[in-house]
Amino acid sequence: MSSVAIIGGGISGLSTAYYLSKAGISCTLIEARPRLGGVIQTEHIQDCVVEAGPDSFLSAKPHAMDLIRELGMESEVIGSNDHQRKTFIRRHGRLVELPDGVQMLVPTKILPMATTSLVSWLTKVRMALEWFRRPRAAPDHDRSVAEFVADHYGQETVDYLAEPLLAGIYGGDPAQLSISSVLGRFVELEGKYGSLTRGVLAERPRSKGSAAPLFRTLRGGLGSLVEAVTKTLGNHTRFLHRPVEAVERAGIGFRLRVAGHWLDADRVVLACEAHQASRLTSAVDARLSALLGSVAYSSSMTMALGFNRDQVRRQMLGFGFLVPRAERRKLLACTWVGNKFSSRVPESLALLRCFLGGVGGESVLEENDEAIIGTVREELREIAGVTAEPIFSKVFRWPRSMAQYTLGHGKRIQELEARLDSIPGLLVAGNAYHGIGVPDCIRMGKRAAEKIAQPAAQIRGSAAT
Ligand SMILES: Cc1cc2nc3c(=O)[nH]c(=O)nc-3n(C[C@H](O)[C@H](O)[C@H](O)COP(=O)(O)OP(=O)(O)OC[C@H]3O[C@@H](n4cnc5c(N)ncnc54)[C@H](O)[C@@H]3O)c2cc1C
Repeated sequence: MSSVAIIGGGISGLSTAYYLSKAGISCTLIEARPRLGGVIQTEHIQDCVVEAGPDSFLSAKPHAMDLIRELGMESEVIGSNDHQRKTFIRRHGRLVELPDGVQMLVPTKILPMATTSLVSWLTKVRMALEWFRRPRAAPDHDRSVAEFVADHYGQETVDYLAEPLLAGIYGGDPAQLSISSVLGRFVELEGKYGSLTRGVLAERPRSKGSAAPLFRTLRGGLGSLVEAVTKTLGNHTRFLHRPVEAVERAGIGFRLRVAGHWLDADRVVLACEAHQASRLTSAVDARLSALLGSVAYSSSMTMALGFNRDQVRRQMLGFGFLVPRAERRKLLACTWVGNKFSSRVPESLALLRCFLGGVGGESVLEENDEAIIGTVREELREIAGVTAEPIFSKVFRWPRSMAQYTLGHGKRIQELEARLDSIPGLLVAGNAYHGIGVPDCIRMGKRAAEKIAQPAAQIRGSAAT
């Protein structure tokens, strides 16, 4: 069997290694950092499970659960406490509850929408009239999330629903993000029903059984997934903790420069961030490198603040709150971890997970910990009335880690994949292509491993999943 090198030891690279090892294929996984997991990093502070990066994954996407099951970790899975799922959005300086029935950003219930102070009467009337939209041919250009949402529900819905929700998930700007790449299902619903509200209601699952929680995670944190995957790799995977400096073609394969030494590989999986992959592949194919470099990234920061529960009990509303750009200084979103997931915070404590940075807010990563903790505490006092002194705090920085699917993303990725097809043995996996969530990355890692394991003819025959 030929030699395989994987560049990047985040969940994409680890999943590639895992599915390769299941197929009996050995590989070398090269990770620049001293630890594996990439942006997945779990710490345990005063018996709290502190997630530095992702804290959970969407239940609706199966690939994370598939992997967890294969690893025998199903009993470790916990779901979000959806019965107390309330999210608040800051409006005119107050926290207003996200009306019941809003699915992503589509309103589906009349009464909660009619009575909310989140949007004006004009927007409410516009939302009601959206119901009567008829299907029409989609425009032939890619539309931004902002353009699409404004067209259906008006600009206020962009400002007070789409913007804060997307800032909280992607650290992204709806005026730049592509609706087809970020919320493709809504484009399909628009084509079929005209109205998104009618579409979402018509296609909601009708099962009578207990619905799956919206989010799932592992009791001990997503870091335990990284540990479990790594453990299974055993003899099949050689780990190098060094940055790859360059990739070049060599004969019918490649050679990688790692800490000044050259390493040969017949197959290379670029499971690092696309901007890194771009830098590494400039000598392999200039156009491929340019396409990889065209994927935008945002930088983000998370902050964990631990409190004595008694001192913040009254402020611990629902899952937490989002701050729309119109009312934002530094904080994008905050989650009360113990309300979202039981068993991650001891009874006597409360854990607040704060999210900062995102498109336009990157400069926050330059601030030192003391300064930014001070700023966040000040904003928490103003937004949520939290005045208690934290008993611990920890700041995590994630520079250029979250891919942004900006306008034209779909076309660029199509060209990128066609380019890759012309370079046998070179593959990509990661959050820059077909979904940024943990399950998407696992799916891409699995797909890369399958491509390596399958004979070429079979790959050509199988549709992309
Ligand atoms: C703050 C934050 C919160 C998030 N929250 C969620 C969430 O709740 N749910 C969810 O589903 N998703 C979430 N995401 C998204 C999801 O976590 C990521 O998309 C996913 O984990 C990315 O995995 P990856 O392996 O593709 O990339 P990464 O985790 O970024 O790993 C890439 C790895 O490549 C390495 N590397 C780079 N260059 C080189 C080189 N030259 N040589 C060797 N190694 C190199 C890096 O050091 C890194 O370890 C979040 C992301 C962030 C940043």
